[in-house]
Amino acid sequence: MGSTIDMHTATQQQLNLARKWRSKNFDQIIGQDLTIRALKNSLFLDHLFPVYLFSGQRGCGKTTTARVFTAAINCQNLENFRKEPRSFKLPCLECQSCLLMASGKHPDFIEIDAASHTGVDNVRNIIEAAALLPVIGCKRIYLIDEAHMLSKAAFNAFLKILEEPPKSTLFILATTDPGKIIETVRSRCFQLFFGAIESQALKAHLQQICATEQIICDSSALDLIIKETDGCARDAINMLERVRFTGQKISENTVLLALGYPDVAQLEKIFEILLIQRDIGLLLVQLDLVNLTRYAPDFIWKRLLHLIRDAWRIKFNLPVTGVSDNFRAIMSQVEVDQLITLLEYFCAQEQLFMKSAYPHLFLELFLVGLVKKKDYSG
Ligand SMILES: [Zn+2]
Repeated sequence: MGSTIDMHTATQQQLNLARKWRSKNFDQIIGQDLTIRALKNSLFLDHLFPVYLFSGQRGCGKTTTARVFTAAINCQNLENFRKEPRSFKLPCLECQSCLLMASGKHPDFIEIDAASHTGVDNVRNIIEAAALLPVIGCKRIYLIDEAHMLSKAAFNAFLKILEEPPKSTLFILATTDPGKIIETVRSRCFQLFFGAIESQALKAHLQQICATEQIICDSSALDLIIKETDGCARDAINMLERVRFTGQKISENTVLLALGYPDVAQLEKIFEILLIQRDIGLLLVQLDLVNLTRYAPDFIWKRLLHLIRDAWRIKFNLPVTGVSDNFRAIMSQVEVDQLITLLEYFCAQEQLFMKSAYPHLFLELFLVGLVKKKDYSG
């Protein structure tokens, strides 16, 4: 019984890697060097703007940066940092204000999700009440997430504030769609752009998480996670968390299964039919089973090329990971010339496939056409 409870507690503690690994100071924010430098400089020079606009795709650190920036503005170490920026960390994460920020209970930090308050006057009321003095910090800071969803009334309230911004208040608008922020507001914001996180930086970050959390993960599995999450750190970490309990070691195939991509065995079967059975009927049944339309066509194309590569390696006794014993057995029956011809067909069609307006259809017809190619019976 005791061990069950312990395990349960352990699992609870390990859940939500993204929250646990959320950056708490500027140094921990990855891939946004220029933006971070601008914010740190404005803190150092004591030159803060009344309204900031953070724009960029989701999951690239806008909200996290806003929280760190907020903590820094109200940190009791700010004065020391201005005098000696190299000796003092900002935010310090230790003062009363920083501790309140960490616990999510800071009285001078108000976070509003505009998406869930759209069209409601309470956002306007909150904005109009912004002239209130801060309780413990030097500024009352409002973070308005998904700011493009604000109602017209809220934007008008904003304009009023912008005409005469209260000294003790600072707004941070975060948005994925800056074009939807009305021009009169946008032109008065200090705008900062958050780009997608560069994959090398994100990979190093994920590797650090794996090392610290004792997650064993193949390098290629991390590459796949990064590719599939388009530079969104939060999504990448969430995916890592989704797959971490599926086995002792996370491989590319574990990630594929978690993503809902076809099992490699399903794609291996396509090659078996193409190279051994050479039967259009069987292939059509198999294609129905895989149902290519559920997946990104270029992804399937790439997986098929990977399998041809694996086949080569098997033929020449080189190490291959992630394929079944059945595939190894099939490839031992296939001639090298067959693989060369197969590869030539893929190469010849790749440009056409990439340009096709109907890639799923193209892929299906291409595979069916391969079955009866005369010159590739070996
Ligand atoms: Zn502090």
